[in-house]
Amino acid sequence: IVEVHDLHKSFGPVEVLRGVDLTLDAGEVVCLIGASGSGKSTLLRCLNGLEVPTRGTVLVSGVNVTDPDCDIDAVRRRVGMVFQHFNLFPHLTVRRNVTIAQRRVLRRGAREADRVAEANLARVGLADKADSFPAQLSGGQQQRVAIARALAMQPQLMLFDEPTSALDPELVGEVLSVMRRLAAEGMTMLIVTHEMAFAREVASRVVFVDRGVVVESGAPGQVLGNPKQARTAEFLRRVL
Ligand code: ATP
Ligand code: MG
Repeated sequence: IVEVHDLHKSFGPVEVLRGVDLTLDAGEVVCLIGASGSGKSTLLRCLNGLEVPTRGTVLVSGVNVTDPDCDIDAVRRRVGMVFQHFNLFPHLTVRRNVTIAQRRVLRRGAREADRVAEANLARVGLADKADSFPAQLSGGQQQRVAIARALAMQPQLMLFDEPTSALDPELVGEVLSVMRRLAAEGMTMLIVTHEMAFAREVASRVVFVDRGVVVESGAPGQVLGNPKQARTAEFLRRVL
């Protein structure tokens, strides 16, 4: 469902991605780990056209995202993204936050959008919060609304960029359990995370990125428990 080949991205003179290769099959859950500044967010952003790569190709569901003629909006409709900061609209209710893109982008009618919103709020355990405003919710609840909002677009792929990093420790678990459930339902997910226990348990594959290249990729038990590359081992020594 995703094919990244020889992806390069520079910001001015700084080459942040230096030839990344990565594939994701449908139903795979891939956790991306690596030090701060290694290029994880930039890689994710290249997948839905938020960044334009300097060189290389990115295919999402067979569409070449790097082709200037590609319909990037069509790609974004198929790719859900969840960020560290939830970016909910503070002046809109939870329900409106989850329906607005459905209405404007997918042109769904009000009743259909409401129905989908309610189903997806239930999916993240927030069926009773539809009429609340974001400020009335905890950080964990707000992040779950952001997940419901992405799911309401019925994406083929979900990208998560450190979805629990901004949360108080006691709120991390509720967001991870929603993600665990999505994984069990077969959702294809690419997740940047520092939650090593979660990666070990949920990922079908763990990919370690360092200084803009994929250094190591494999089963979670192997990459996290018995890394082949010295750079992976050194990173894990620092974070575990
Ligand atoms: P973190 O774990 O801290 O989120 P990361 O692995 O996600 O790090 P990126 O955010 O992809 O790393 O950034 C990689 C490098 O690219 C950093 O040195 C960053 O300063 C630089 N960078 C990212 N976006 C831009 C930009 N728009 N303009 C200039 N430099 C950028
Ligand atoms: Mg980042």
